[in-house]
Amino acid sequence: MNQVETALAAVAAALSIAIASIRKIGRFSQTTVDPCRAGFEQSPNGILFVAADTLRILDANPTLLRTLGYTREEILRLDLSRVFTDPGENGEALLRKLRDPNPRLPLQLNQICKNGSLLNVEIRGQRLDLTSQQVLAFTTADVSVRRKVEAQLLEKQQHLDHLAHHDQLTGLPNRHFLAAHLPTAIEEARQTSAIMAVLFLDLDRFKHINDTRGHETGDKLLKAVAQRIRSTVRTEDVVVRMGGDEFIVVLKSVRNFEQVNETAGRINEALSAPVPVDGRPLVTTVSIGVSLYPRDGANMGELLRHSDTAMYQAKDRGRNNFQLFSPGMDRKLKERMAIETSLRNALQRKQLDVFYQPIMDLHSNRVVGLESLLRWKVPGQGYLPPEKFIAVAEDTGLIVPIGDMVLARVFADMARWQGAGHTPVPVAVNISAVQLQRTNLPATLVKLAREHGIRPSMLLLELTESAVFERGESRSGESNEDAVSRLRELGVRIAIDDFGKGYSSLSYLKRWRVDFLKIDRSFVRDLVTDASDLAIVSAIIAMARHLNIKVVAEGIEGWQQLEKLRQIGCGLGQGYLFAKPVPEDQCQRYLTGEPLDLTVEQERQVSDFGATTGNLKVAST
Ligand code: C2E
Ligand code: MG
Ligand code: MG
Repeated sequence: MNQVETALAAVAAALSIAIASIRKIGRFSQTTVDPCRAGFEQSPNGILFVAADTLRILDANPTLLRTLGYTREEILRLDLSRVFTDPGENGEALLRKLRDPNPRLPLQLNQICKNGSLLNVEIRGQRLDLTSQQVLAFTTADVSVRRKVEAQLLEKQQHLDHLAHHDQLTGLPNRHFLAAHLPTAIEEARQTSAIMAVLFLDLDRFKHINDTRGHETGDKLLKAVAQRIRSTVRTEDVVVRMGGDEFIVVLKSVRNFEQVNETAGRINEALSAPVPVDGRPLVTTVSIGVSLYPRDGANMGELLRHSDTAMYQAKDRGRNNFQLFSPGMDRKLKERMAIETSLRNALQRKQLDVFYQPIMDLHSNRVVGLESLLRWKVPGQGYLPPEKFIAVAEDTGLIVPIGDMVLARVFADMARWQGAGHTPVPVAVNISAVQLQRTNLPATLVKLAREHGIRPSMLLLELTESAVFERGESRSGESNEDAVSRLRELGVRIAIDDFGKGYSSLSYLKRWRVDFLKIDRSFVRDLVTDASDLAIVSAIIAMARHLNIKVVAEGIEGWQQLEKLRQIGCGLGQGYLFAKPVPEDQCQRYLTGEPLDLTVEQERQVSDFGATTGNLKVAST
């Protein structure tokens, strides 16, 4: 039996008792217990009889009288509309419903008690055809407790729903909400031919803040960022936290692309301002990728994937900017992912190699050092230069094991050259900022130096300006500056690589006591023909001399460049004019301690051409 049937059976029982009690009045003596009358009087539900034609109240059982607070005499004088009210209807409509009751459909009404209070009741009525007259019989059940429980359950359900669709930390809707909401929004946009924009936001270097400042600070930053994004967009736009440091903003019905550009630019700007966390300003920026409906995708999956792709493009373009999706980006991302996968394999299969390029004393033509340069030997394709894969290695963290491999190789090669009786020269190793911050370089160097019997002072580390001057911090909270001074304490020397290309603070140069500045080859290239390049290089050399820093000119390819550099007092240099980077087994000739005969060297380079970087075949991934 279902609920309705049970209820009907109960009503039927109550009604039949009530009817019988009317019919049989008088058939039982006062002393005999009339079961029908007893049923009427002891029913836990209220029972009310009303004349069908006039709606005059004929009788009410004690339960009903008790809940209403009236005596029998009082209720008999009352109008039916004084006993029941329907919150949704006017009095007339209610009386119409009561006059023509459907026993299968209970009415949800309020019962008006004598003291004015209202009681939620469920009423079932039935028309009874008695011989003398037509009577309406109503049973009433107090459902206020049930209603209360139902309301509480509903509230609980809504709370659970909210929890399931919202992010606990920021209070923003989460990915489940987006999955439920975005398809509807797309459908609405389709029906109204509107443009919609999906913005994929990823905080720049958030992981670093989390690692160095702790998760608690990271959480506070995320909360503040969430609020900033929310307050930057319109109320009708949806802001979702996808997880971690990723957010989605859905801009509904935008007028044109300019509006999207303007909003994305505003978010970039809003997040660039420092966020105060625990009284300290934290700087975080955001990279944003944008896909547009219907131009970049017809469904949620496509729009999200394409905005994600565009976001990666924004990261590639130096972060803290936004990019609109274009189909070319998809291809680039696939290439990038392919590089990542093959690079992992390359590391395992030992396809990564280290070449060396001599660093020369420009006056004596002696080799005073070697720079180690990473190469990826792609089977059947030759060597792939680092610029094709270093960025991917840095982004994926693969630079850490790769950097360890390079250091281990360099120490092993130095030990081999030393063992073979060659004249040792210091070797320069390129170190990326990620390596400086994520690994314990001093410990690694001490271990390798001990293992191979090489003094750490034979090592020179090349760091780029951004790696050095950016306010980075290592996992242990150590600043880049502290990390570098610990390395210097070991006797390791430091060079600033590609100097002039990035942003440098000259005061840092003084404070950090770097040993070498390597002038970026873009300044050396046109040194002979471009007066401003000559002025810049001359100024760097003069400044370095005052700070007791040695200068290395990169990318010397011609005699005239060499002559000019000698004239303006540049002591050291490297470039194809002297030697191209070569594999380890061709290095011995640079380790004699004798001046290099450049004419012989150049003839050799022509014949060795295939083994040097000049003849690279770029892998088409
Ligand atoms: P870098 O440290 O500035 O290295 C100098 C680059 O200039 C090398 O490119 C070298 O082959 C090239 N080069 C040298 N002389 C000349 C010349 O006369 N003309 C021209 N056009 N180029 C010349 P390579 O080997 O392709 O390396 C590129 C960059 O990749 C390096 O620039 C360095 O920043 C990075 N890199 C190389 N090896 C490693 C490594 O082991 N770890 C890290 N983190 N980065 C590395
Ligand atoms: Mg370098
Ligand atoms: Mg360089």
